[in-house]
Amino acid sequence: MSESDSTPAGVAVIGAGGAGLLAGIAAAGSGARTVLYERMPKPAKKVAISGGGRCNFSNTLEPRAFVREFGDPHVKHLGHALKVFDNRALIEMLKKYGVEGELERHYRLYTSSGRGQDVVDALVKEFLARGGELITNAHVGQIEADPAGGFLLRGRFAQREETRRARTVVVCTGGLSYPQTGSTGDGYQWARGTGHAVTPLRAALVGLRLEEEWPRKLSGTAWPDAACRLWRIEDTPARKPVATERKEMLFTHFGISGPAILDLSNAYVLAGLDRARLTIDFFPDRSREDLEREILERLQSSAHRPPRLALLGMLPARLLDALEIQVCGTHAPPSQRVTREQRRALLERFKQLELTVLGTRGMEWGEVTAGGLDWKDIDPRTMESKRVPGLYFAGEILDLAGRCGGFNLQAAFSTGYLAGQSAARQAAGPS
Ligand SMILES: Cc1cc2nc3c(=O)[nH]c(=O)nc-3n(C[C@H](O)[C@H](O)[C@H](O)COP(=O)(O)OP(=O)(O)OC[C@H]3O[C@@H](n4cnc5c(N)ncnc54)[C@H](O)[C@@H]3O)c2cc1C
Repeated sequence: MSESDSTPAGVAVIGAGGAGLLAGIAAAGSGARTVLYERMPKPAKKVAISGGGRCNFSNTLEPRAFVREFGDPHVKHLGHALKVFDNRALIEMLKKYGVEGELERHYRLYTSSGRGQDVVDALVKEFLARGGELITNAHVGQIEADPAGGFLLRGRFAQREETRRARTVVVCTGGLSYPQTGSTGDGYQWARGTGHAVTPLRAALVGLRLEEEWPRKLSGTAWPDAACRLWRIEDTPARKPVATERKEMLFTHFGISGPAILDLSNAYVLAGLDRARLTIDFFPDRSREDLEREILERLQSSAHRPPRLALLGMLPARLLDALEIQVCGTHAPPSQRVTREQRRALLERFKQLELTVLGTRGMEWGEVTAGGLDWKDIDPRTMESKRVPGLYFAGEILDLAGRCGGFNLQAAFSTGYLAGQSAARQAAGPS
């Protein structure tokens, strides 16, 4: 047996993503001998690519607003995690390594350098500075109870099958989405094996597939400020939508996406919807009367041109082309011959374009995994399993999926920190 085989680590952290790095930082900082195992050649690939590579690592919301805006009822379990490590603590930690945040769209914090990798580099430096040991290319295959106390980690470490020992283990293996970043759901299997319940796993923060084919032809067409509303298929417009998001939206080759739709996708998943209605108001600040007046004036002042050209500037040209075909057919009349009904039909599409959602784009494309380890089996004051003492969980593996805006990374950082700190405390106690 090698030295590392015979001497158990105080805390073994599995998975060096956002949660694992912070678990390692907290554990090593508490004085525990801490080993962080990462199956990929480099840590935290997902953090590096997040926010389009610019990493929206957190936001400036104070804890109560953070919880209010998060967008998942299970956020109520984050109280302790946010108390021990909130956005201010993260900002301070990153600052030490020259990583500054740049504020965007009200409260979102992106790296001012535009490099998500800077966040990863800073967190790795902090972990190593606190005396932690990072082992990459280390794929943990199994966790077992050690008859001598603590845990045995069996896996492939630097090309060799080995067994490592640890007094406590923090599982931070992430969700199922973007498997090319290393998160393939190993932790769910281990948790199930110890009796943990896992709620249904579905892609979230993900584009939506549409029944209608015409939007796909507009792939790449974006609109900066749309009020997008999601409805149960059976509901009439008079009833309350399942959710409303007002932000940028984007037509894509598979249907629809963009920040407003990504956030709506979480509500879609949480409500357990299948086929659903989606309506888009491209002019949320303007009344129907006001819009109708402008449409009428434009049609009158460009009497001999087709409506799509008369209305140019109100919406993107390709969207106007598509709406004109829907309302006037492929041979549109000159604007002066557009009927009142056709004008009203155009207005209706400007204010309430109707689409039918068939499903999400799928797990491979979800920015997060909705569902995960049921909170009933986790103590949110420590992140310890209620089923296996000494085993801790943090990050996306938990049943928690926030909206866009730095919520998911901050949740991973905060739960990771709390789990690492608690695991170190336990490791220091009597065995
Ligand atoms: C494209 C994209 C953009 C995103 N943008 C943002 C954003 O801007 N802001 C935001 O807040 N959130 C964003 N997210 C979500 C955010 O990145 C995740 O919620 C967060 O990274 C989850 O952290 P985690 O540590 O729990 O899991 P992960 O980051 O998935 O880390 C898990 C780690 O565990 C390792 N691992 C897995 N199994 C094993 C094993 N058996 N042995 C050893 N290692 C293992 C994996 O290789 C991986 O490194 C984005 C996600 C994606 C996919």
